[in-house]
Amino acid sequence: HDRIPLFGIEIDPLRMSEAVERIMGWLHSDASASTRFIVTPNVDHTVLLQSSSPLREAYRDADLVLADGWPVVMASRLLGKPLPRRVTGSDLVPALFAAASQAAPLKTFLLGAAPGVAQRAAVNIHRQYGNVQVVGTYSPPLGFENDPQENETILARIAEAQPQLLIIGLGAPKQEVWIHKYRHQVAAKVAICAGATIDFIAG
Ligand code: UDP
Repeated sequence: HDRIPLFGIEIDPLRMSEAVERIMGWLHSDASASTRFIVTPNVDHTVLLQSSSPLREAYRDADLVLADGWPVVMASRLLGKPLPRRVTGSDLVPALFAAASQAAPLKTFLLGAAPGVAQRAAVNIHRQYGNVQVVGTYSPPLGFENDPQENETILARIAEAQPQLLIIGLGAPKQEVWIHKYRHQVAAKVAICAGATIDFIAG
């Protein structure tokens, strides 16, 4: 599939099932040099992009760029290069967990959301998806992105936990810029920039 350019972002025209299949392949592939990462742009992000070259670079280098918002899908139709459907981060994560429940066990790490929220999400994940194991959670303090020591702590926590999948809920553009910067140091096969998904799962 060729990427579709919209609002200065190149978007992958994949359906949910195709995205899940691609990511499952990456999760179970042999080690690659860096963590593959997925972003899910919506219209807010297209505004952020104008003033953030780190966000533009993160989008450019992302391994999968999926249209989160229906306005993005509508625009693609109006421009005659239709995207099949929206694929939101908050739908993609449970879809992956469900797919993992039919396959080999999946180790995942939840990075972000307010203190305590990811632990609540972990309880719900274990209850609902027998084959998914939350091997770690971490809620970085405010301003972590400008603190090298704190970034070392985050990387060390992930390295200790050895997840295959990293769910990053730090909000845009922090989550995209963070994984783009640290993808060569993150000990996970795949990372998903997932916005408020950890909050949704926590209920
Ligand atoms: N968040 C965080 N650290 C930050 C900023 C945000 O953990 O420094 C979390 C916040 O608690 C929420 C998530 O990021 O769980 C997503 O926030 P938001 O809904 O604003 O992001 P969006 O989905 O709009 O990108």
